[in-house]
Amino acid sequence: MVRILALHAHPDDIEMLASGSLALLSRLGHQVTIATATAGDCGSAEHEPDVTAGIRQSEAAAAAAIIGADYRCVGLPDLGVFNDDPTRRRVTELLREVRADIVITASPVDYHPDHETISLLARDACFAAPVPNYRTGDAPALDAIPHLYFCDPAGGRDRVGVRVEPEFGTEVSEVMDIRKAMLACHHSQKAWVAKQHGVDDFEASLEAWARQQGDVFGAEHAEGFRQYRHTPYPVTPLLQSLLGSALLKPKAHGSAL
Ligand SMILES: [Zn+2]
Repeated sequence: MVRILALHAHPDDIEMLASGSLALLSRLGHQVTIATATAGDCGSAEHEPDVTAGIRQSEAAAAAAIIGADYRCVGLPDLGVFNDDPTRRRVTELLREVRADIVITASPVDYHPDHETISLLARDACFAAPVPNYRTGDAPALDAIPHLYFCDPAGGRDRVGVRVEPEFGTEVSEVMDIRKAMLACHHSQKAWVAKQHGVDDFEASLEAWARQQGDVFGAEHAEGFRQYRHTPYPVTPLLQSLLGSALLKPKAHGSAL
């Protein structure tokens, strides 16, 4: 049994970017925790921040429960995710509490500042978690740096529109219904996403995104990932090996589109 922490910025990000892989991993008996940096307190034009945060944490917990995962929130405010000393310690404590073997986090380049910063925080917390003298709370230091992976950025592009290619993917066709059910738990976001992002059909948006990433691999529906391999992070393909027959490799360059 491997312990997997999927840590992104806001409630519903993991649902869009990695929920199919997590559903498959949970089904295989691995322990999955979904965590967000914030409770999504700015994701409403109707409710005050504290009310919105409460609603969205309940929605995120319900989505996680569909695949038997726990939900955790770091408790930062929306647009208030910074890679500073107290926050790095809080995120490191989370990794220690979960006893993470694998951390899946946001792309280092993405459209939203909270996405980019939680990616940095997760990367640095992986480094810090096994360091005994780095004090964070009651949880003991990890035995080793977790294997670290990045999700695709939202839309598969960085801030200036440059395509970010995944290194490998997961074939998620058989769990698309689960992904849609998880996303549908975020009831409060329908009105907000329509207003802020001009997206009025969550399910269609997820379907189109999964097919777009599927094209990268010559598959029907996919989620893409990259592994962080800089020293001294582990370089063995742990997540890839867990995915088994669902693991996808990109089509060779020059192949027909
Ligand atoms: Zn987000």
